[in-house]
Amino acid sequence: PVHRTTEVQNARLRLPILAEEQQVMETINENPIVIVAGETGSGKTTQLPQFLYEAGYAQHKMIGVTEPRRVAAIAMSKRVAHEMNLPESEVSYLIRFEGNVTPATRIKFMTDGVLLKEIETDFLLSKYSVIILDEAHERSVYTDILVGLLSRIVPLRHKRGQPLKLIIMSATLRVSDFTENTRLFKIPPPLLKVEARQFPVTIHFQKRTPDDYVAEAYRKTLKIHNKLPEGGILIFVTGQQEVNQLVRKLRRTFPYHHAPTKDVAKNGKVSEEEKEETIDDAASTVEDPKELEFDMKRVIRNIRKSKKKFLAQMALPKINLDDYKLPGDDTEADMHEQPDEDDEQDGLEEDNDDELGLEDESGMGSGQRQPLWVLPLYSLLSSEKQNRIFLPVPDGCRLCVVSTNVAETSLTIPHIKYVVDCGRQKTRLYDKLTGVSAFVVTYTSKASADQRAGRAGRISAGHCYRLYSSAVYNDCFEDFSQPDIQKKPVEDLMLQMRCMGIDRVVHFPFPSPPDQVQLQAAEWRLIVLGALEAAKTENTDLPPAVTRLGHVISRFPVAPRFGKMLALSHQQNLLPYTVCLVAALSVQEVLIETGVQRDEDVAPGANRFHRKRQSWAASGNYQLLGDPMVLLRAVGAAEYAGSQGRLPEFCAANGLRQKAMSEVRKLRVQLTNEINLNVSDVELGVDPELKPPTDAQARFLRQILLAGMGDRVARKVPLADIADKEERRRLKYAYNCADMEEPAFLHVSSVLRQKAPEWVIYQEAYELQNGDSTKMFIRGITAIE
Ligand code: ADP
Ligand code: MG
Repeated sequence: PVHRTTEVQNARLRLPILAEEQQVMETINENPIVIVAGETGSGKTTQLPQFLYEAGYAQHKMIGVTEPRRVAAIAMSKRVAHEMNLPESEVSYLIRFEGNVTPATRIKFMTDGVLLKEIETDFLLSKYSVIILDEAHERSVYTDILVGLLSRIVPLRHKRGQPLKLIIMSATLRVSDFTENTRLFKIPPPLLKVEARQFPVTIHFQKRTPDDYVAEAYRKTLKIHNKLPEGGILIFVTGQQEVNQLVRKLRRTFPYHHAPTKDVAKNGKVSEEEKEETIDDAASTVEDPKELEFDMKRVIRNIRKSKKKFLAQMALPKINLDDYKLPGDDTEADMHEQPDEDDEQDGLEEDNDDELGLEDESGMGSGQRQPLWVLPLYSLLSSEKQNRIFLPVPDGCRLCVVSTNVAETSLTIPHIKYVVDCGRQKTRLYDKLTGVSAFVVTYTSKASADQRAGRAGRISAGHCYRLYSSAVYNDCFEDFSQPDIQKKPVEDLMLQMRCMGIDRVVHFPFPSPPDQVQLQAAEWRLIVLGALEAAKTENTDLPPAVTRLGHVISRFPVAPRFGKMLALSHQQNLLPYTVCLVAALSVQEVLIETGVQRDEDVAPGANRFHRKRQSWAASGNYQLLGDPMVLLRAVGAAEYAGSQGRLPEFCAANGLRQKAMSEVRKLRVQLTNEINLNVSDVELGVDPELKPPTDAQARFLRQILLAGMGDRVARKVPLADIADKEERRRLKYAYNCADMEEPAFLHVSSVLRQKAPEWVIYQEAYELQNGDSTKMFIRGITAIE
């Protein structure tokens, strides 16, 4: 029996799902797999585990709940423990490097990555009686893979007479990928809809869509606070830095002065200490981008500290260039939480004007005497600080939460009446050509925007202020976002799944499968790369095994070919160079070359730049690396100039695209941070003054490039065999590439064009329109000795 406090009991009774407990439990008891859909805040995450507990599901085995985000795993386990009056040793959580699970744990909240990892060692999940996959509408890669795996595990457990229940929970009704996919579930699982109380939300679009949405969010919040009646404000921006920036600005404008008397409503829980923390929090947020990087490093270092013990056994082994054998190492699935997105329609009223006199500029600033209780919310925030959104607001204050899209569906913040939505989110985008990923800010989907708006209608009728125009919403917002699994490059996915022990990726029952032909091609490329073993016996029906090198590659958060380059560089202490190269190679058109658009058509100025580059390449060891060395040198020099505040002049003088240079820098920082976070024995910095490599280093770098680009080899078309003079001239710079029928040409911008070496590797082949016909070019050339 569970002993809840009356306060908790009363709060529960207000949740719509409680009225349906009996029906929910009957459906679960009678079906192995059930889908539960209900609007955010209806009580799915906090109540369902309790229903199951009270129905006896935790008696012999555990109830497992997965969340795509760490924030939710921690917050929800604490909330459920509190509601059930049980210690955290019984209602616990486990995220990648942190947790409070004990042998006494009955209900276990975890990230989806953690459960995937458990399947590797215990395929039948024998410790669990039920698995709840929460937030399935987010379509995170790991949750999608879990759905596929569990569709097979559930019948297996049934056969063994130890049934496992699977509950898939979604905040939206868009679940047809689960219910109508007969490869996944032969019998479509029943769908339970939980009705939620949702008050009307009035939508206010802006006439214009400003670029600086953080500044706009600030202005809008001032107006709301100054003019509109009581009710909490929830602001959506895209990332931690924006959250901190906005929190600080709002706190400065509407300071919360510690009231002399009892300053806290209800249970008087906000102590002197809490106050301190708040100030502390503000002080530690910084606006200067350099400091922010530092701040990011600090966060990472803190995480690293706490993960030390987990890492002891997964140190990245040294690998030899000729011999990939490693001392017995095991792999670690990448268990990042999801950054983002998704779903579902609210009954929304539209209106194109800023109503309620909000366009009036007068009365701005802190004319408003009422203090604003401003709280930040994002994934990496400590759980105590996250928890403050649920604590009572100090007397006389208005609640204002500045959040990333964590608050879209994962966490329900109480008392929100106004939503300010920037309409953007941070997404991991993959470059189709290179497979390098970067976080970029994009518009959300219509479904996401409506989900965000819905957060304003939980307690009464609310308002949503969208910081963009209805035209942008209609024209630029997709209806729904694609499942993450279809946005990821398949090579990556293939290697990752194989490292998790999923052998038949091609036959895997994905809810939304990636392209099958592509999966097959990816397998082949991974074999060429040495990440998968070349098939040994022909009659075996098993797919090629993952090599040790493959396991190491999978730890780097980049495309496998770059992963291999990074893995090899690590051994030679060349990581800073390779990181720089990978970053530079992933940004298009770092060097201004006019010939890129039309072959040979060199604009004034381009010649000068070209000669400059030739001289860079010619001096010292640069011939060793060819074009990639030019890139390395360009980035090194530009960053140095940048650190002296001379980036624009330097770029202009040397024919570099300044915007590309800033992108390279961002990528370098990102990649460096991710490597520090994912690879245990590495602590990289981003040195603005990257010294050119020595001869010996350049030789190694060439070997590394060769190893990573082994399938992108080209050989010069042998001119001596060609009798026709015209034809000989036409093919002067032509190369035969491994998997192309037509020859491709060395681009005029290549520093190796004069030399035109017999064998080369290239970073990229691309096609250019040339009048009516097209012509293939290769870029990023390195000569093979
Ligand atoms: P769903 O999963 O359907 O979105 P939840 O179970 O997460 O809904 O939330 C149900 C209710 O519980 C919400 O009104 C939410 O505000 C409240 N709640 C959740 N966590 C806490 C907490 N830590 N403190 C107070 N209320 C909470
Ligand atoms: Mg939930």
